[in-house]
Amino acid sequence: MALAELRRPMIERIWWGLLVVAVLGTPVSLSRLATTGWLPAYTVHVVLTVAIAVTCWQLSRFSYKVLVAWLVLVFWAVGIGGLISLGPLGAGVWWMSVSALLISVLVSLRAAFISLVLIALVLVATGYLFVSGSVTVDFDANQYILQVRTWAVLIIGATLLPMIVFLALADYQHTLARLLTRVEKQSQLIEQKNQELALANDAMQDFTSIVSHDLKEPLRGIRSFAALLKEAPDDITAEQSQALLTQIHDKADALSTMLDELFQVSRLENGSIQREPVDVEHLVAKLGVRLRALLDERGAELSCADGMPLLVADRVRASEVFYNLIVNGIKYNQSSPPQVHVDYETRDGKVYYTVTDNGIGIAASQQARIFQIFRRAHHGDAYGEGSGVGLALARKIIDLHGGDIQLESHPGQGSVFRVHFGAAA
Ligand code: ADP
Repeated sequence: MALAELRRPMIERIWWGLLVVAVLGTPVSLSRLATTGWLPAYTVHVVLTVAIAVTCWQLSRFSYKVLVAWLVLVFWAVGIGGLISLGPLGAGVWWMSVSALLISVLVSLRAAFISLVLIALVLVATGYLFVSGSVTVDFDANQYILQVRTWAVLIIGATLLPMIVFLALADYQHTLARLLTRVEKQSQLIEQKNQELALANDAMQDFTSIVSHDLKEPLRGIRSFAALLKEAPDDITAEQSQALLTQIHDKADALSTMLDELFQVSRLENGSIQREPVDVEHLVAKLGVRLRALLDERGAELSCADGMPLLVADRVRASEVFYNLIVNGIKYNQSSPPQVHVDYETRDGKVYYTVTDNGIGIAASQQARIFQIFRRAHHGDAYGEGSGVGLALARKIIDLHGGDIQLESHPGQGSVFRVHFGAAA
């Protein structure tokens, strides 16, 4: 919000306030004009009231600068008018002083300082005019002071004018406070984003170091087997060289699979999601069909609770998450029969879909690690093939949804994976 935008409501309020003061004082000035006819301040007052009314009527047409300049002019017209007509008896000095105060808030302190110097010069000049006799006030001050109308003008001017100025300042203060709250909120948001960024950076570094480390492993194998073949071709038998070539081939395959999977995960990094309503019971039933062979082979059971709440998420990706969790529940399982159950629960007002198995469970020390790419809690193919990508992929998908994935597991007691797919906008 620009400063002028911030100050605009304040100056508009001052203009309306000024109109109130001018209108309230007009009858007094008019009657004074009719009965005495000699105080120019009253003519100035009536003319200014009309000008102020026109300005207020057309307020939105004027730029901020024009409104400020015009306001200061009005204050000075009243101030100088009052000074010349009544000398130190009038409220002219007040008006000019208030104008300096307003300039300090509406424009700048420097401009206010210049106006204070001008006020001092005007006062010196007026004082000189009166003292030298160039200007005289030909009225009886006592009589003037005793008049009710004098007091009416004074009271209206002395109470309403500061009130309007204070109201406008309060308004300004209030806007500043609101602005400050907004700035505070924004800085909190920036701080939060910075933290998220730092976390993302850390995760990225973890990811890169894991990837470079893990991809090197099959490469190292390929290089050393190839070196063996190259350096000692006479010493090794045809059988041995065949075995080495098979090893090289397998390592190259492994490398290629890792690269494919890596590509899958990194592609998600900048991907966008398209949310749509997903019937989870239906989705699990479809996954049951897709996993028929594995379920039959392991004699496993897959079930889903009735009345699952509608999921609003990227259908294909959500299916990938459930697929990986269900496959793991069947694979890492030695119970008979292995069972995987899909259900839901509400935590902190958020719906979490749960995938529970009666499998081998996961040690606490492994629980964070297994969500990293290529990280497995089990060596080799003890529980069937795997590459350590499924959970990393699931977590990336959940992150993309702005959601949350949690794991609760104890070795030998099965596992529960809870997933929340973020709030649909
Ligand atoms: P993968 O299954 O291909 O190895 P994942 O990323 O899906 O890769 O899983 C990483 C590791 O986490 C697995 O190797 C396994 O050790 C462990 N794991 C995952 N899900 C379960 C589960 N439901 N029960 C026991 N261990 C699990």
